[in-house]
Amino acid sequence: MKLSRILVIDDEPEIRKSYHKILSNYDHDDSDDLEDLARDLFEEPEDFSASLLEEHHFEVVTAAQGLEGVGLVKQSVARKSPFSVAFIDMRMPPGMDGLETAKQIIEKDPNIEIVIVTAYADRSRKSISEAIGGHRFFYLKKPFDSDELIQLAEGLTLRWHMTREREVFEEEKRIFISNMSHELRQPLQVILGVCETLRTCEMEASRREAFLLDIETEARRLRQLAEGFRTIQQLEEDTLILPFTNFDMNKAVDNVIRLLGKEAFQKKLYLEHEKGSDSLHVAGDENSLTQVLINLIVNGIHYTKEGGVTVQTQVDGDHVEVSVSDTGVGIPESEQEAIFKKFYRVPQYAIKIRGHGLGLTIAMEVVQAHGSVIEVESTPGEGSRFSFRLPLSK
Ligand code: ADP
Repeated sequence: MKLSRILVIDDEPEIRKSYHKILSNYDHDDSDDLEDLARDLFEEPEDFSASLLEEHHFEVVTAAQGLEGVGLVKQSVARKSPFSVAFIDMRMPPGMDGLETAKQIIEKDPNIEIVIVTAYADRSRKSISEAIGGHRFFYLKKPFDSDELIQLAEGLTLRWHMTREREVFEEEKRIFISNMSHELRQPLQVILGVCETLRTCEMEASRREAFLLDIETEARRLRQLAEGFRTIQQLEEDTLILPFTNFDMNKAVDNVIRLLGKEAFQKKLYLEHEKGSDSLHVAGDENSLTQVLINLIVNGIHYTKEGGVTVQTQVDGDHVEVSVSDTGVGIPESEQEAIFKKFYRVPQYAIKIRGHGLGLTIAMEVVQAHGSVIEVESTPGEGSRFSFRLPLSK
């Protein structure tokens, strides 16, 4: 349920009460009309406006005077729970009038939607617009009926939410482009630097070979990045075909442990498999689920200095639970959601340990394509546990 906060500024107690009554109690059962209204107003795809309208609920906050209203807006911005719409009465003797109130509110919160409410048509739209610094506003004539009020509150709240979501999207796009260019620049710089050295310095064949190996390693990283990216795009667009078969999850885990055993051994870490039962057949795509195991276990090895990584497979009702636990650095609670985003890496380890920040995104997408999710439990300094569940095949 999306809670939208609405501010009402009016000096008449009875009117403030009616706003409360209409907007706080209103039962949203006429959603078809409102969806049509939203589409007409904003030309957004059907699903988008419908989804916002379905999850709607208003919290109405009232103020009797302009200054009080401005104070509430200031507080709401500071507390990061801003109002979506302010309904402001034009005439509020003896205090500040509605237009001055609107102007000051907009200064505190430029995103807010403004509705000027008045019983008198004594100001033109143009002069109101000029008085509030050109900010967009709506006009509501008193007396208004409840449908009119609800429609305006709904429509403007919807516009406010859509603008906020667009801003988040733009910010994510900006971060994404900056991360992507960093991921490309780093290996390219190494490759160019090594090429320069090879071209300008005389050296023995063995040193030359070591430099060529550096180029190869970085080129492989770039290829891995491009492939990871393609996989995520296909998973997000549902164009990656995952051929489901019945396979033994225990065998898949053992294969991955064999593959990664050397890496764990080199770091003096244990890598073990605790089996709940001998064979655990699940229905799924073995290749992509093997990739999930690799990504989770490789992370366990990378982010652990002492101790090791344990993979557990056990039956839980008619499901198999697969978990990968490590005794590593752990993940602060505040980061546990973000680590599944594309390119996101916990800043304090991003410098020390190389990675693209795509492994968990791919793992989550694959597990979701199997109708499940990855859960994470972690305590900084003690370790982490990633787990997911798949249905046992009959
Ligand atoms: P990468 O490991 O390449 O950075 P991932 O998408 O696999 O990318 O992981 C994202 C981030 O989540 C990592 O950068 C790291 O900060 C954190 N993380 C993932 N797994 C672990 C783990 N087992 N222990 C501690 N941190 C982890």
